Amino acid sequence: MSGHDPFQRVTAIVDVGAVERNCARLRSGLAPGTELCAVVKGDGYGHGMGECGDAALRGGATRLAVATATEAFELRERLGAEVPVFITGALTGAELDVALQARAELTVWRPDFFAAVAERASMFGFRPRLHVKHDSGMGRLGDREAGGVVRLADAAAADERVELAGIWTHFATADEEDETFLRAQLDAFRALAEPLAERHPGVLLHAANSAATLRGPEFHFAMVRCGIALYGLDPFGRDPAAHGFEAALSLHTYVADVKRIGAGESVGYGRSWRAPVDTWVGVLPVGYGDGFRRGLSNRCEVLVGGARRPLVGTISMDNLTVDLGPGGGVEVGAPAVLIGEQDGERVSAEELAVALGTINYEIPCGLSARVPRAYRT
Ligand SMILES: *Cc1c(COP(=O)(O)O)cnc(C)c1O
Repeated sequence: MSGHDPFQRVTAIVDVGAVERNCARLRSGLAPGTELCAVVKGDGYGHGMGECGDAALRGGATRLAVATATEAFELRERLGAEVPVFITGALTGAELDVALQARAELTVWRPDFFAAVAERASMFGFRPRLHVKHDSGMGRLGDREAGGVVRLADAAAADERVELAGIWTHFATADEEDETFLRAQLDAFRALAEPLAERHPGVLLHAANSAATLRGPEFHFAMVRCGIALYGLDPFGRDPAAHGFEAALSLHTYVADVKRIGAGESVGYGRSWRAPVDTWVGVLPVGYGDGFRRGLSNRCEVLVGGARRPLVGTISMDNLTVDLGPGGGVEVGAPAVLIGEQDGERVSAEELAVALGTINYEIPCGLSARVPRAYRT
């Protein structure tokens, strides 16, 4: 995929064809009839919610999930009435109205919120589809008590103002090697949900994120909810290619200045790096204001002139510096790649995440609104 757009300081290129293929790859591991719900919250993990949602649907997803009411509203405006949109998060009263206007499927667990949904639903003239959430061990949203989940599910099924659409949970450790806790969550959910599914035919059971989906069919139930893998990032934080995924996002900029820095001289705030020998330094007009995190200062590499170059000095809000080496040989205007490939070399989101002590999810999510996204197929 080609590099820097000469009209832009920085561009995140999102290959929506890769999103589509990653979906198809995920689907190939699902039994026929198991639904793929594509998770496009957080602006599609920073990749662009609408474009990635479209690509996921082309790749065989049958439903989209988001975290908030405004995300659901935006999707509904883009997609029209047909595609099911599921909100996984908690909603305030005002957000509930936005969610209902968007005809979104909703998460419920607290009886008072359920009552509010049922009451508001009559004002909107349709029966909202509800997914009752069991907290089987994550300790976030959802009812920890199996009895509460069962009561609420039965109440939703019996209430003609709403429709019981699903029973679901979320795993805390699906990406970890040790499966003990994961299996305890799975067993707890299964014990509660399977009898409910028998009692209420057509209700969807769902539990798996990308990591659990890749672990195998026992986690799949009727639907899986995949996010990170759609974007071609490895849910286990290692190598997406090992699972047949292609990273969809690459981050491109250019060399805005090249200068000679003598041995012992410094670049950047705080003089955190000094040239060990006379060298050439390239200045790239990207910084933490773009979401290229300051914590990467002196800790990662950048692709310039087809080679990996160490990022040196402290990353500023709008600029960063790379050591081009004593030989130099890089012209002002040369394309640079912060995430992605150049001439067969690659810097991955996983690699940057390790350097930052975080997870790959945070790398594209953290790219700020100042970075234009461009879409390629
Ligand atoms: C974000 C999210 C997912 C997707 O998780 P990935 O690890 O990105 O696949 C699934 N379910 C819920 C409830 C989520 O919040």
